[in-house]
Amino acid sequence: MDTVLREGKSKIICAGPDGGSLILRYKDTATAFNGEKKEDLAGKGKLNAAISNQLYAYLAENGVETHLIEVLDETSALVRKADIVMVEVIVRNAAAGSFSKKYGVPEGTALKNTVTEFSLKDDALGDPMINESQITALGLADEQELACMTGLALRVNGLLCALFEKAGVRLIDFKLEFGRYQGRLILCDEISPDSCRLWDADTEQKLDKDRFRRDLGDVLGGYREILRRLQDVRQV
Ligand code: UDP
Repeated sequence: MDTVLREGKSKIICAGPDGGSLILRYKDTATAFNGEKKEDLAGKGKLNAAISNQLYAYLAENGVETHLIEVLDETSALVRKADIVMVEVIVRNAAAGSFSKKYGVPEGTALKNTVTEFSLKDDALGDPMINESQITALGLADEQELACMTGLALRVNGLLCALFEKAGVRLIDFKLEFGRYQGRLILCDEISPDSCRLWDADTEQKLDKDRFRRDLGDVLGGYREILRRLQDVRQV
């Protein structure tokens, strides 16, 4: 059994076979509202691992450097050990969630330009939104790193939008995390229906964690649909 270094809300981080790597294990636990709502959904770990691994493979093929070294099994992946930047990058193509609530814009409203936001990665504080001068003032990242994260996030957005469009899915918004690795920033953490809003392009049906947050039912049905469509478009 691997040595558990940290157990998070949806993943367990274990020591890797050497000092430069870690093993990520995806759990079945679903959480929302900063852990207030919590439930075990049997099979979620496997689905998120498969979806994230597909997306990471696609991004790597398109020249985005990521933490993924190797898929180990259905719920585990070997990843590069990076020094995680303690800010999350949120990318929005359409209004939804906290953006819709805060600015009074109906969900699904297209935005005139892609929005990027940062939030402080701190569960105890509820991941508050933070601006660039606040980030540099607190020493969480420097200006060059901020520019690099924004540039990478927009590049990832372009690639993911193109892939999801082929799959008949509208990428509404998503969250990314980055880590410092050998003097560069690499993409870390998962990209899955837990961290993205994904709507069916025709019906606008939600295929992501909003099903869990909002008690819309059959949470994993949405995740399964995303995986099925990704596998379809990735095969051709
Ligand atoms: N998100 C995430 N982790 C967080 C906060 C947000 O993965 O801690 C994702 C969320 O799933 C959505 C996007 O980032 O795809 C934007 O989330 P938003 O700011 O609208 O917050 P929410 O409505 O989830 O509170």
